[in-house]
Amino acid sequence: MSDEGYEKQYIQEAFDSNWIAPVGENIEQFEKELSLKVGCSSAVALSSGTAAIHMALKAAGIGKGDIVFCPTLTFAATANPIIYEGGVPVFIDSNKETWNIDPKALEVAFHKYPNVKAVLVVHLYGLSADMGTIMRICQKYNVPVIEDAAESLGTLYKGQQTGTIGDYGIYSFNGNKIITTSGGGMLVSNNVEKLSKVRFWSTQSRDTARHYQHSELGFNYRMSNILAGIGRGQLKVLDQRVAKKRNIFEYYKNELSKLSGIEFMPVNEWNEPNYWLSAMTLNGKVSPLEIMETLERENIESRPVWKPLHMQPFFSEFDYIGGNTAESLFDQGVCLPSDTKMTDGDLERVVDVIKEVWR
Ligand SMILES: *Cc1c(COP(=O)(O)O)cnc(C)c1O
Repeated sequence: MSDEGYEKQYIQEAFDSNWIAPVGENIEQFEKELSLKVGCSSAVALSSGTAAIHMALKAAGIGKGDIVFCPTLTFAATANPIIYEGGVPVFIDSNKETWNIDPKALEVAFHKYPNVKAVLVVHLYGLSADMGTIMRICQKYNVPVIEDAAESLGTLYKGQQTGTIGDYGIYSFNGNKIITTSGGGMLVSNNVEKLSKVRFWSTQSRDTARHYQHSELGFNYRMSNILAGIGRGQLKVLDQRVAKKRNIFEYYKNELSKLSGIEFMPVNEWNEPNYWLSAMTLNGKVSPLEIMETLERENIESRPVWKPLHMQPFFSEFDYIGGNTAESLFDQGVCLPSDTKMTDGDLERVVDVIKEVWR
């Protein structure tokens, strides 16, 4: 979990100050330190990335019947909060150049649904979406952008941190993300007023009165002071983790891209990814399933690419705009083991097993 052990110190401080609660010094400091790190004016620490997406949608004014554009190639947690608010997702295809939301399909979606209320953008596996083009389109239609940067903390788009380019950004500190508090999330924005509203909603919407008074629906979504202490320690090692993840990706790419049919996830010139996961596609004679099963026999875990949301039984009633790019990335994709604790020997073993399949 920890690279340098600052977590224990911050947790100890929480115990010493008796703030073992969803208030306290670690929360305030974690919000400040993360804002400073990514470069935005305000942040609210929450219980999960999903809660952060929910609060971002609420801040953007999403309510019953409102349409929200959402990439199809992502984890279900991106789209579920649209449903929590009674909104209607419309799923959008990816393009091959970014694996993320396709600006051309986005334009088509705007023509079909001119009354859309918000656009969710995901930075899949730590690869930045084409934010310049996406922001130009969304500004033309005057629609707010929410960046689901759950997988991309530390990723830069043209030098700017993903999560801080749209109107709202969210990060996740779930156990499998690049830094973790075991579970948690953060909502960031330059709209300080809206974020103070989120702070209010996420602590049960308690009005400023001595008695318990509520004029709005409330949520219990704040991060605990203990977990914020873990987050502060983890944030200190983010750059180290990104460097290690980049090494892992480069090693796989050097070793495996010579094999016929293997192509690695696209890293554009404007994109400085955090390389959260190393993913590749196979379009040759070997299927992803064959690779995953061969690795499994060696006790090595690998994963398919996210199954597109428009193909999920739960979301099948909603509209989908685009072609079959996301679908073919799902059919051809494999996510390789990318944990920062992996040794050179571990990486060699993965590569050897895959090379063996080609022999
Ligand atoms: C992990 C993840 C989330 C959800 O974050 P939690 O903290 O687990 O709620 C949302 N979107 C994407 C793309 C994710 O990978």
